[in-house]
Amino acid sequence: MLNYNRLTRSFRFQRFSLQEQINIVNDQISKEEQSQSALKDKIDRYGSLKKIIEEINQHLDMDAVAEQLVSIAFLSIAKGKGTCILYLVDRQTQGLTIFKTKKEDKKIIIKAKEGDVFDNWVLRHATPLIIEDIRKDYRFAQDKPVSIEERKVSSLISGPFISDHRFLGILRLDSPEPGFYFQDDLRFLVTICDLGAVALESAELFHRTQELAIHDGLTGLYTKGYFMERLKDECKRSIRQNRKFSLLLLDIDHFKQYNDDFGHTAGDIVLRELSACLTDYLKDKPGLISRFGGEEFCVILGGYDKKEAFCLAEGLRSKIEMIQIILRRQKTSITVSIGVSTFPVDTSDEIELIIKADRAMYEAKRSGRNRVYLTGK
Ligand code: GH3
Ligand code: MG
Ligand code: MG
Repeated sequence: MLNYNRLTRSFRFQRFSLQEQINIVNDQISKEEQSQSALKDKIDRYGSLKKIIEEINQHLDMDAVAEQLVSIAFLSIAKGKGTCILYLVDRQTQGLTIFKTKKEDKKIIIKAKEGDVFDNWVLRHATPLIIEDIRKDYRFAQDKPVSIEERKVSSLISGPFISDHRFLGILRLDSPEPGFYFQDDLRFLVTICDLGAVALESAELFHRTQELAIHDGLTGLYTKGYFMERLKDECKRSIRQNRKFSLLLLDIDHFKQYNDDFGHTAGDIVLRELSACLTDYLKDKPGLISRFGGEEFCVILGGYDKKEAFCLAEGLRSKIEMIQIILRRQKTSITVSIGVSTFPVDTSDEIELIIKADRAMYEAKRSGRNRVYLTGK
């Protein structure tokens, strides 16, 4: 009996000890599985880099590049959870402006259009940031609200787009859950940002080149080539929507004389002043202004019939007459003659429309200058 009890105790002990070993092995297996799965995630992520590079470099348009970057970060890092925001640095103010977002909850509105304290921290330090729990992060004062967002933000990762020492923007992911992101996520985000910076810079350069091609160097107004393209579009739209539009052709009166009296540089200043006046006068109007030739300007007035276009041109003419340009302590001024034609009442051919406005402008010159003439008047 005694032997039997001893044997039972021994078996029980061995069973416990075996169970303990099984638990340890199971624990190890589970840890191994976790680390294998993390490794697999990592391999998948880095394996997708080639595809990511191809995707972001296939576009030259800023909007498309940004769209790709937020989509990649949002899906591959956050698995579509929380929010992803791409900010760009405004060249003039050097501050951040929101450019693209991806949100798990489509209804939420992001209030920090110029970034919050975390985004501005990344901008100031030009370095990536990870916050596991906003409430516990000592770097950001807890006595005042760190974020103006009503939506809940508990953890975030953020990486800067830096190319050639120039700060282009920020890519940020945030989550309402604390501890949602790991160091590995931040590392991958930084890789995306490094690749993205090159693509964003190329897109920006492309955009600037395009802008230069369609804008006149002296006045900043649209070039004749671009204007003609848009005029074609306006004609098509007008026919489609069955609505009128008018064309103004402006020419400075006796500008050659002005150049002779005050010099060519003074003439250039006048051209700039006049362009600024045109832009200001037409800023709320559905129009397009171009420098059509040396001292000639052409304007499309979308939706304007002949009478409306005449009234607007008359207001513009008298406004230009009032501009005072001080040259060598002398007050100078200019006047313009304006010809008006209207689509489709005068013609439904774009070239003919310009010819008609030009003829009206010529009539305005002939009858004394500083006046507005309509086609066929
Ligand atoms: P009109 O009232 O008949 O239009 O007389 P006008 O002297 O303005 O006409 P004309 O076409 O004979 O002269 C246009 C002048 O515009 C000639 C040229 O010196 C000047 N001009 C053209 N482009 C520029 C420019 O970029 N800068 C300056 N300063 N002058 C220019
Ligand atoms: Mg002229
Ligand atoms: Mg002239």
